[in-house]
Amino acid sequence: MTEADPHTRRVLLAAPRGYCAGVDRAIITVEKALDLYGAPVYVRHEIVHNKYVVDTLRKRGAIFVDEAYEVPEGATVIFSAHGVAPVVHDQAAERSLKTIDATCPLVTKVHKEAVRYAEEDYDILLIGHEGHEEVIGTTGEAPDHITLVDGPKDVPTVEVRDPSKVVWLSQTTLSVDEAMATVGALKEKFPLLQSPPSDDICYATQNRQTAVKQIAADADLIIVVGSKNSSNSVRLVEVGLEAGAGASYLVDGADEIDPAWLEGVRTVGVTSGASVPEVLVDGVLEWLAGHGFDDVRIHTATEETLTFSLPQELRRDMKAAGLKA
Ligand code: SF4
Repeated sequence: MTEADPHTRRVLLAAPRGYCAGVDRAIITVEKALDLYGAPVYVRHEIVHNKYVVDTLRKRGAIFVDEAYEVPEGATVIFSAHGVAPVVHDQAAERSLKTIDATCPLVTKVHKEAVRYAEEDYDILLIGHEGHEEVIGTTGEAPDHITLVDGPKDVPTVEVRDPSKVVWLSQTTLSVDEAMATVGALKEKFPLLQSPPSDDICYATQNRQTAVKQIAADADLIIVVGSKNSSNSVRLVEVGLEAGAGASYLVDGADEIDPAWLEGVRTVGVTSGASVPEVLVDGVLEWLAGHGFDDVRIHTATEETLTFSLPQELRRDMKAAGLKA
C-alpha cells in the first residue's frame, strides 16, 4: 500500500465489496418473477437485508410478508436468500402456494450438513446470532439436534448428550475471527468436537472481511455501506475496528454520513456488505469527493467470479414461456 501523503485526502476503496453471488441471484429472482408472473409477487421476509433493494422491489410490485399465511391461497411466494425451515415449505403447501426458493446455495449447503449430522445422531453446535433468519432456518432442519452458540459467552452453559459425537456448524456471515474464538472455546470444553467438512462462513463474507482488514491499518475512518440488520455488514464494521481503523460506521447511504466524522481524517476506507448495490457506494464516494476526498484508490484483496443459476422452479417457468434464464 502506498504511503499516505500528509497533504492528500484519500479514499481506500475495498474490493471485493457489495453483491455476492447469492444476493445477486435472489434479487434477479424477484425481478424475473415480477416480469414473468406480473405484480404482485409475494416475498417471505426481506429478500436480502438491504433497505434500498427492498424498497426498489416493493415499488415494482413485490409484497414482503412475515409468514406464509399472509399470502393469498394459490399465489406465488419467493423465499429469501437466508433460507427457510422445512416447516415453512409445509405451510406454503397447505395454502397451495407456488414457491420459488431463492435460498443461497451456500446456506442450503449448511442445511444439508445439519440434516446429515442429525441423521447420524450427532449433537450439532450451531455458531450464529440468535434470532437471525438464517439461524432460524438452519435450526428448523433438525431442532432436536441443534444448540445455538452465540459466541464464547454461551460456551459454559452448552451441554451435549455424548461429547464424542458433537460437531460445530456456523452461520455463513459471521466474523471469521470471532467464530474461530468460539470454536476454540468449544474445543476446550469438548476436545472431540468435529469440524464441518468445509467452511460454512461463505467465500463472500470471508473476502469482504479480508479486504477491509487490509485497508484498516491505513484508514483513520472506515465507512461501511449496509443496513443495520445485515449481519455481514455489521461484521465489516467490527472487523475494520479490530484491524486498526481509527473509527468505523455503518450507513445505509451517503445521507447518513456525519461530516464531523471527517475531523482530522486523511484516509477514509470504504466498503459495503454483500447485499448492497454499487449505486449506494457511488453515492458515498460522491459525498466524500464533495468534502475533499476525491483521490480514490482501489485495494483489491481478491477477484470473485462465482455465480449461481436461478432457482430451478423459475428457470422451468421461464423456459416454458420462451424466455432465456
Ligand atoms: S453472503 Fe454468502 S451465504 Fe449469504 S447470500 Fe451471499 S454468498 Fe450466499
